[in-house]
Amino acid sequence: MDTVESGSRLLITHARLATLGDVPRLIEDGAVLIEGERIADLGATTQLTAHYPSVERWDASGRLVLPASICAHTHFYGAFARGMAVPGEPAADFPQILERLWWRLDKALTLEDVRYSTLVCLIDAIRHGTTTLIDHHASPNAIEGSLDIVAEAVREAGLRACLCYEVTDRDGPERAQAGIAENVRFAKSQNLESRSRIAASFGLHASLTLSDETLADCVAAARDCGLGFHVHVAEDGADQEDSLRRCGKRVVHRLHDAGILGPRTIAVHCVHVDDSEIAVLAETGTWVTHQPRSNMNNGVGVASVEAMLRAGVSVGLGNDGFSNQMFAEMKAAYLVHKLDQRDPRAMSGNVVMQLAYPNNARLARVFWPEVRLGEICEGATADLVFLDYHPTTPLTAENLPWHLIFGIEASAITATVCAGRVLMRDRQLLTLDEKAITARSRELAARVWKRVSDQ
Ligand SMILES: [Zn+2]
Repeated sequence: MDTVESGSRLLITHARLATLGDVPRLIEDGAVLIEGERIADLGATTQLTAHYPSVERWDASGRLVLPASICAHTHFYGAFARGMAVPGEPAADFPQILERLWWRLDKALTLEDVRYSTLVCLIDAIRHGTTTLIDHHASPNAIEGSLDIVAEAVREAGLRACLCYEVTDRDGPERAQAGIAENVRFAKSQNLESRSRIAASFGLHASLTLSDETLADCVAAARDCGLGFHVHVAEDGADQEDSLRRCGKRVVHRLHDAGILGPRTIAVHCVHVDDSEIAVLAETGTWVTHQPRSNMNNGVGVASVEAMLRAGVSVGLGNDGFSNQMFAEMKAAYLVHKLDQRDPRAMSGNVVMQLAYPNNARLARVFWPEVRLGEICEGATADLVFLDYHPTTPLTAENLPWHLIFGIEASAITATVCAGRVLMRDRQLLTLDEKAITARSRELAARVWKRVSDQ
């Protein structure tokens, strides 16, 4: 059986359950009862099999079962960049990376490319136990309807995603307005659906490609649909230099004065923010997301995540288009702050867990208020990942972060469940045709690469 219809039940047995949550427990030989989309009960396998003798069972055979991962910031549209040769000299700084790679790639995308780059990311997400993704989309030559294409792929996959279109002035006023219109059109169409696993935000590229006039148009449009924003903030020093040149204000102050910040807004990266900006992020309840693999790859610096947390900023963990294996992002976060600060006490395993699970789960509730992710408990949404991980040292609820960081590899992941629906079992995908999608993706990516090199 691959789906759990509303009210139907499935009993997972013989699992090593790591519950996470406020009082994390490690239940050896544990069982979880899924009822519809939710977890209805959990405990010892002997107990639950006695209580629910007639419920269909799924023997986890001693696998480690965790809450599924959440990705707080990603770009499905970037999937075709993998292995792509970028024409010309290697980019020397972040603005050159944008101009030479990303702004060429996104212009080359058709609506079919959008569909397939989304699908390959969703396969990757299911394979790696990531069931909730907050995406930031750009396809300047295929704007209208692009978010519907992404949403349709997410529905087919059976995952949960929050979508937005990246508004920017870099391609002229007409496309900036088309981007605004796409955010509005999509958000309004989503309001018709209740209990959807698709949600909407309002996408902005970054301060450095947005005029005051466009920002004002976005604020008016977003207010009309009740949306917060999803925007890259001070990813590189260039964003600060541009903002200071433009208006004499630092980026966070500029965005705050424009009406962008607040508890429904995600400020992505915040690598180059000062104490006054961190104070504004905290006061406004604005979300920050941390993407250490992307920051290392672009050579932009390391965000002051612990300082932001101490100041009361809510910080989540995203991947910025890197693999949807969030355990790899957690490892990067664990390592890079230690190197950056020359201090092995920096960014402990518990802080990494805080970003990846409770904080990301709280961010998800901004978009899906009824969904309870990041923990296995009665009433939580049944989003789970199974790991073929048999620890060679004692595993406890307390030392779990270090097992995840030092012990878990992607190859351990065998099953993924989203809202009670089994999306992968014994490493077999149940909702998407991986072979066909991969074949078509390779054809389309080759054409995109050709268009990029012809630009
Ligand atoms: Zn990004």
